[in-house]
Amino acid sequence: MKTFDTIHNTKEFLAEAKKSGRKIGFVPTMGALHEGHLTLMRRAKKENDLLVVSVFVNPIQFNNPEDLKKYPRDLEKDKKLLESVGCDILFAPTAEEMYPEEEVTEHFDFGKLETVMEGAFRPGHFNGVAVVVKRLFNIITPDKAYFGEKDFQQLAIIKRLVEMEKMPLEIIPCSIVREPDGLAMSSRNERLKPKERAVASLVYQILQEAVQLKDKKSPVEIARWVADRFNNNPSFTLEYFQVADETFLQPLEQWKRNTGALGFVAVFLGDVRLIDNIRFY
Ligand code: AMP
Repeated sequence: MKTFDTIHNTKEFLAEAKKSGRKIGFVPTMGALHEGHLTLMRRAKKENDLLVVSVFVNPIQFNNPEDLKKYPRDLEKDKKLLESVGCDILFAPTAEEMYPEEEVTEHFDFGKLETVMEGAFRPGHFNGVAVVVKRLFNIITPDKAYFGEKDFQQLAIIKRLVEMEKMPLEIIPCSIVREPDGLAMSSRNERLKPKERAVASLVYQILQEAVQLKDKKSPVEIARWVADRFNNNPSFTLEYFQVADETFLQPLEQWKRNTGALGFVAVFLGDVRLIDNIRFY
């Protein structure tokens, strides 16, 4: 595996690879890699000639400075995991390399997609994600880029970004990878205290129970039921639960025949914020 920390060297190397017609599969990450990330990478490796992974904790997508400070980082461990999935190129730049300007002023308009859920509760988050992903795509020039449905709204934002910027690549959505007890894998899980980890599987259990109610209750009733389940458990502080359509991610009041529907949750366990989602239809 080759490791680069400058844009120049990465571009130079990949330009050669492209010239010889090799297809590039790209998985952007913020490191602290786990099986969820590795699953995306194995797929990208299989479907392309070169696997490129970026590890960059993107400061401008954190609306909470404490969250940025506490975000787990272990590049040496990540490198070993990357070798184990046959990663060809690791791009691990510094913040100065990615953001040489004093202030990032680029602004995207994602319309209604960014006014709900993560967009509503984390102001500026998706703009930060879009800025970094656009830069990464321009550096790596992937043929295919892989994103997890764990961050379903992010995936919708990236698809829209590629459309708006007319970028010549394919976005490949990948299913959520879970721990044996159902907890969606996340770098943030590392920060759960043992007591918190012990109850964390309830997040997915509650989502699954909610799906069982879909024939009896409306989306609004289900949202109320889920909120009660979390609010009655002192370990959790619910930020939101919402049933939304799969394309525009707008809240649904009634089930609709012509669109898929998912339930989305963001919940705090102590000071760790977890997100998850589940399909209803
Ligand atoms: P992150 O390092 O959290 O920015 O994640 C990098 C990529 O891995 C994103 O596309 C995430 O959606 C994806 N990812 C993270 N956790 C999971 C998971 N448990 N299952 C599937 N994809 C995931």
